[in-house]
Amino acid sequence: MVKLLEILYLVSSKFLSGVARKYGDNRIMNLLFVKFEWATKKPMFGCQMCGQCILHETGMSCPMGCPKEIRNGPCGGVRTDGTCELDPKMTCVWVTAWENTNKMRVFSQKIDLIQKPLDRRLKGTSAWINQSR
Ligand code: SF4
Repeated sequence: MVKLLEILYLVSSKFLSGVARKYGDNRIMNLLFVKFEWATKKPMFGCQMCGQCILHETGMSCPMGCPKEIRNGPCGGVRTDGTCELDPKMTCVWVTAWENTNKMRVFSQKIDLIQKPLDRRLKGTSAWINQSR
């Protein structure tokens, strides 16, 4: 599944970044991008529209699903069975990220990158448009 998502990401990001670069400043297109991004990524990844997508660098596991919203690896409170210290019913997003990233081809090394601090001003905006700028 993660390999399929990786291919889908590669194909769609080229297309979407081209369209976003061309039309992202148009208000209506911007709104459509936000709605489309939310409608597709929310059900697939639990996207919370942080506006700075790093899915391809975290094994397609959204780091914003972490109750602490940690974007640079697990907090150290991961239980021995891989569940979250705050919510024992959920698998740590970083356990999933690590398992998935080892199955990826193109992006398998990206998990080693240090992520910048989250810019909360971008919440609710389209990461596709933001990344095309
Ligand atoms: S990293 Fe941000 S934009 Fe990407 S899926 Fe998670 S909340 Fe959405």
